[in-house]
Amino acid sequence: MYLELAGAEVDEPSLQALTLARSYTGGSAVDAVVACDDASRAPSDALGEHGVSTLYLAESDGFATYAPRAAAEALVELVDRVGATALLGPGTERGNEVMAHVAALLDLPFAANCVTAAPSEGGADVTRVRWGGSLLEVARLHTPVALMTVQPHAVAIETVSGAEPAVEPFSPSVSEPARAMRVTETVGASTGGISLADAKVVVSGGRGAGSTEGFAIVEELAGLLGAAVGCSRAVTMAGWRPHTDQVGQTGTKIAPDLYIACGISGATQHMAGCKGAKRILAINADREAPILASADYAVIGDMHEILPALSAAIRATRS
Ligand SMILES: Cc1cc2nc3c(=O)[nH]c(=O)nc-3n(C[C@H](O)[C@H](O)[C@H](O)COP(=O)(O)OP(=O)(O)OC[C@H]3O[C@@H](n4cnc5c(N)ncnc54)[C@H](O)[C@@H]3O)c2cc1C
Repeated sequence: MYLELAGAEVDEPSLQALTLARSYTGGSAVDAVVACDDASRAPSDALGEHGVSTLYLAESDGFATYAPRAAAEALVELVDRVGATALLGPGTERGNEVMAHVAALLDLPFAANCVTAAPSEGGADVTRVRWGGSLLEVARLHTPVALMTVQPHAVAIETVSGAEPAVEPFSPSVSEPARAMRVTETVGASTGGISLADAKVVVSGGRGAGSTEGFAIVEELAGLLGAAVGCSRAVTMAGWRPHTDQVGQTGTKIAPDLYIACGISGATQHMAGCKGAKRILAINADREAPILASADYAVIGDMHEILPALSAAIRATRS
């Protein structure tokens, strides 16, 4: 099981994937691997309670920043060394990229975004999310090593009582071209420090916001709710917000407790990114807008009137 790190901790999609990995093994413990540039940066999580028996630390200075090909080379080396017959990872953008490199290096098929997986004769049977969540595909992988990623937010994390894993550092040989393919600079997202993917509340604006300036009322409401700001692709295409704010099939997949979609029609490609939300509040001028079919609550009207009124009401309750 390939684990991604968020700082010193294993990220949530990886813990979700660990739960699926345990169901793949029929409940037995699994071995896991993280890539880090220094053993002191090994994850601080209690991985025993996620069913990890051995944690391999792939150490290389090439892992100081995200380096997908280098991570893939380390995974391929480990798969070979331990004789793994399955390798799972989180179905994040990065997890899928690393596993795609592994598949290319091993010249084997790869099933991304699985929601179930079980070993089968000569491979694995999987159910996986396709076309931005609009269909579930049941497929069989015919392969000596089943390469799979797990759809984020589709599997609830389950813990077990288990001893802390044995930690085994190793130094993979990483090729020079692989080292060259790495992140050299990280530019902060414009979500006011709250990660869109992990936010409990997200306030998004669509074409109905009208302009870059039209997002001031979206930001104001988000600020009051401690929420992240998101948007539709119509907005990023118009250049009103950066792509990092986009929710959807080709944007970020979110699973907040509350998603407030303002001036967003609810195209399938947008809903693919927010259908993990526990509750959706749609604010839309059109009572026939498709998003109303998925919304738990709706306010029909002009977002440029409703959002300032909502913000004012929240302020009034706090004063
Ligand atoms: C391959 C592919 C991938 C895509 N990926 C994504 C993706 O990741 N994310 C994404 O969002 N889209 C994606 N799209 C685009 C998607 O199909 C839609 O075009 C897009 O989501 C529409 O954005 P929108 O809802 O903001 O705009 P529109 O569809 O134009 O809807 C605007 C909505 O705002 C309402 N409105 C207008 N004025 C107001 C007002 N003053 N107050 C309140 N409501 C108002 C309207 O009634 C309407 O419902 C993708 C498309 C393709 C083909």
